[in-house]
Amino acid sequence: IPDTEFSDLATIDWRNESLSYAQLKAHLPRPEMNTQTATETVQAIIDDVRARGMQTLTDLAKRFDHVDLDHTRVPQHELDRALEELDPQVRLALEESIDRARVFAAAQRPQDTEVNYANGAAVTQRWVAVRRVGLYVPGGLAVYPSSVIMNTVPAQAAGVASLALASPPQKEFGGLPHPTILAAAKLLGIDEVHAMGGAQAVAAFAYGVEVENDERGGIEPVDVISGPGNVFVATAKRLVKGVVGIDAEAGPTEIAILADENADPSFVAADMISQAEHDANAAAVLITDSVQLAGSVRGELVKKVAATKHSDRVLQALSGTQSAIILVKDLDQGIEVCNAYAAEHLEIMVADPEATATRITAAGAIFVGPYAPVSLGDYCAGSNHVLPTNGTALHASGLNVNTFLKAIQVINYNKAALGDVAAHVINLANAEDLPAHGDAVAVRNA
Ligand code: NAD
Repeated sequence: IPDTEFSDLATIDWRNESLSYAQLKAHLPRPEMNTQTATETVQAIIDDVRARGMQTLTDLAKRFDHVDLDHTRVPQHELDRALEELDPQVRLALEESIDRARVFAAAQRPQDTEVNYANGAAVTQRWVAVRRVGLYVPGGLAVYPSSVIMNTVPAQAAGVASLALASPPQKEFGGLPHPTILAAAKLLGIDEVHAMGGAQAVAAFAYGVEVENDERGGIEPVDVISGPGNVFVATAKRLVKGVVGIDAEAGPTEIAILADENADPSFVAADMISQAEHDANAAAVLITDSVQLAGSVRGELVKKVAATKHSDRVLQALSGTQSAIILVKDLDQGIEVCNAYAAEHLEIMVADPEATATRITAAGAIFVGPYAPVSLGDYCAGSNHVLPTNGTALHASGLNVNTFLKAIQVINYNKAALGDVAAHVINLANAEDLPAHGDAVAVRNA
């Protein structure tokens, strides 16, 4: 490779291969550090939070975030102050992002459904919000006020009554979360904010933390935890799932770009770098049938990676096992790769991007054509940026209003309507050798 081309990114050449779905899944580029490998560390943190509560939260704030805290709760006046001192341009941008997210979230709310089998035989499905949610907003390598919006807006649109937010304490802000995060929370009407990060924040939300003789109180357990984070946060969410609901594993970010010879290499390179700057574990994968495009993208990467602010992190992310250029023989094979990879973000920059997008069956979100970069979705498209990573988009969805809703089915039959199906119920009960089930119908004399 000539030194005018970026050589730190691996090439996987599948142009002469016919790989089965299982082979594709086994050989796709994935991060070395994943939710499996982080499990032991994270389980120990969860156990410690359960055993020692607030003491563990303050100990880990010292160890990981290098701050001294005696409690996680952010005082109300700090939220007020953060909003008062917020840069007006940033405030306008946050408000635009909130407005767009609110319109889309409101449109997602599902309708209740009712079916009447006969007069007096109704079954209804009602959507009911969970009572309380814990919203995680990352703040380790970068801070994410946009994630305050992405978490909060769908929860509020669902009608959740109690919202608590957690974000890592920041040394340079006296142990509080970043002021823009506090301002965004205030703007959205959240008043319970905790300075806590990582797996310990997830554990505190899942199991609750009791604190006696302190007017700041403890942390009440939640029903659902949502929000993105690094591998420790994603692993903790996986481990507490079942105790609480979670949105999805929204771990270190990923971009896959399906591009052909028509794509603009500077767009492709810029978008790969924009994801890589999140985290050394972030993934950037280009899938293309054009060797020429692959070469031009490498040329662009040489220039852009050197010039970008977080070039060290970007370089680590692009040279990790999770990033690659995958050469495919044609668009069909490219689509197969995309559907097996199940990217958190999939950009499509091919001749007919809309038609191609309809053939994608697994992705957190799809960005169609050259003018819908992931950065747009990160902030202001109206869509949500909290999306499933590490292949979990095969079965999981991005954060949306349904994340915070439960479907409750309501059965309302009268005596005559029960009588219409009584014999069938009794016969099925007998077939399962559960005759008392049949008796419960017979006793009603229906
Ligand atoms: P973070 O808030 O997720 O994590 C910071 C915390 O991690 C620290 O406070 C600490 O408690 C914990 N931690 C750090 N090192 C640890 C260790 N060795 N052992 C145990 N715990 C440790 O912030 P971050 O690190 O900047 O990561 C943000 C992540 O969120 C990035 O990976 C980014 O890609 C991802 N993200 C994902 C999405 C999505 O929807 N998938 C969206 C936005 C951001």
